[in-house]
Amino acid sequence: MLIIFLGPPGAGKGTQAKIFLERAGIVQISTGDILRAAVAKGSPLGTQAKGFMDKGELVPDSVVIGIIEERIQEEDCKKGFVLDGFPRTLEQARALDEILLKLHLHLDHVVNFEVPDEELVERLLGRAQQEGRSDDNPESIKNRLQIFKDKTQPLIQYYAEKKKLRPIDGLGSMAEIADRVKAVVGI
Ligand code: ADP
Repeated sequence: MLIIFLGPPGAGKGTQAKIFLERAGIVQISTGDILRAAVAKGSPLGTQAKGFMDKGELVPDSVVIGIIEERIQEEDCKKGFVLDGFPRTLEQARALDEILLKLHLHLDHVVNFEVPDEELVERLLGRAQQEGRSDDNPESIKNRLQIFKDKTQPLIQYYAEKKKLRPIDGLGSMAEIADRVKAVVGI
């Protein structure tokens, strides 16, 4: 099972990915988590990524594509995986298609979490207070939402044309949304 969780920052992709993978027994691959771990470690990747992340800008395509290409070939991905936060640009989506083709893997579903802007801003500001993520400040949040509209939104049509898109309402309790995910992916 190979699934993409698509949606704006604050849509609940990460939370739902964790719930889903417990149920489905597959792994979650979050480019945001991988990048944050690299920043925390102070590795060359982290040093490169930090400036982009703090401003709410995207890390260059070539960097994240390289991360994903390596990660999905690891042993724990054999049973399947959920991509959370990747792809985020058309270039990343096309690169992913090529990687999957090369590895003889098949994309099953793209779950699109639909959440209105006002709710996203509220959630992200709330998360900023709870988790203290350095990119959850008003300026960066505004930037991330704009980048989502400019760069990531086109993926909705891209995957709709491939008949992979499964839109779900991202408003509601965690359990309700988990049920909607279950309804569209079948587990
Ligand atoms: P959010 O969805 O709330 O923005 P993420 O954890 O998914 O949080 O991403 C945090 C930051 O990491 C992004 O703002 C961006 O700088 C970087 N990032 C994560 N995934 C990608 C990606 N696929 N392409 C480019 N940059 C990424």
